[in-house]
Amino acid sequence: MKKQPSAAVKHDLVVRHAVLPNGRTGASIAVDDGRIVAVDDDALLAGAYGATEIDARGNLLTPPFVDAHFHMDATLSYGLPRINRSGTLLEGIALWGELKPQLTQEALVERALAYCDWAVAKGLLAIRSHVDICDDRLLAVDALLHVKEKVKPYLDLQLVAFPQDGLLRSPTAKTNLVRALDKGVDVVGGIPHFERTMAEGAESVRALCEIAAERGLRVDMHCDETDDPLSRHIETLAFHTQRLGLEGRVNGSHLTSMHSMDNYYVSKLIPLIAGAGVSAVANPLINITIQGRHDTYPKRRGMTRVPELLAAGIDVAFGHDCVMDPWYSLGSGDMLEVAHMGLHVAQMTGQDAMRQCFDAVTAAPARILGLSGYGIAPGCHADFVLLQAGDPVEAIRLRAARLAVVRRGRVIAQTPEATAALDLPGRPPSIDFRR
Ligand SMILES: [Zn+2]
Repeated sequence: MKKQPSAAVKHDLVVRHAVLPNGRTGASIAVDDGRIVAVDDDALLAGAYGATEIDARGNLLTPPFVDAHFHMDATLSYGLPRINRSGTLLEGIALWGELKPQLTQEALVERALAYCDWAVAKGLLAIRSHVDICDDRLLAVDALLHVKEKVKPYLDLQLVAFPQDGLLRSPTAKTNLVRALDKGVDVVGGIPHFERTMAEGAESVRALCEIAAERGLRVDMHCDETDDPLSRHIETLAFHTQRLGLEGRVNGSHLTSMHSMDNYYVSKLIPLIAGAGVSAVANPLINITIQGRHDTYPKRRGMTRVPELLAAGIDVAFGHDCVMDPWYSLGSGDMLEVAHMGLHVAQMTGQDAMRQCFDAVTAAPARILGLSGYGIAPGCHADFVLLQAGDPVEAIRLRAARLAVVRRGRVIAQTPEATAALDLPGRPPSIDFRR
């Protein structure tokens, strides 16, 4: 039966003339009470009108960006108490150790909220942040739990109990990790490659997966963030995921040693990860700058094997990881910049591959976080971003302006269109950069 245009119905919000990430054009979206109630062709929703109306003018309307890997307790602390001279992960960890005793709750909250403002402006409305639990005061845990509540109306903040100094290497880490979970931290973290030995790394993975299984929680470990091809904690993580029935709830972050591993071993490893339903997060901005620091030339890129993981059906997200902190001096909460770097480092230049890079900062991390009501479909939360781009590939190419950011049907951030005025003989007076 042919659909007929709906009669005049008033909605809270109507968006018209949108392009959706799946390529659908001429789409209208109607919103009531914070949820999408209709997604239809423009003509079919022509009768509907909204208290707020947005004309997308053929631009891309996407579900919000999601960052599956971040450190909100360290963000915007760049230069405190000094700058990372070697640029290595290990000096970054040492530097963070110097800063920790000087942290105050007020400063942590203030920096985190400032970052959340940046995130919202860039259409980034869900973040999984690790929080270091190795400070016995759990200052950062309390600060970020406070921030989580405070930003709830406009940003989903998921917290991971992260034993930065090692679960077994740091004497109070295990107690503190359990205390942090008791306080309401959502996810169990780990850092097996930073434990004293490979055996202790494996033991930490076992213990952490068991804690998660007992509590019904998700797991997200910093795993094998090293150039050592023999760092194989991801294998152990996949094993315990399957042993404990945690399939679909476990993520391996970084996995950079996989870049340097023997190809034969990887041909065995990737099916093990896929079989255990473990997802992966690569952090291209950070790992392109931090890995390979002990190399002369050629210098390794140090990002995990993203196209190969995707080809095996594994969920892969690109995370931001750091913004202006002991490990990374740049960044702005722009997940299109993250996707742009990931695309280049992984050489994912085919059309389908570039679209996968867009998914890696939207739909894939939404699945990894277990977000509910994510997407542009009836019944989903009315959370979306209007980008000044015609499709996902163009959005990455231009790091497109966020014309409007909508949360639960309300416009919460806007950015003017990027245009340039020209004064050239015989040329148009103004341009934008879309094709
Ligand atoms: Zn990290």
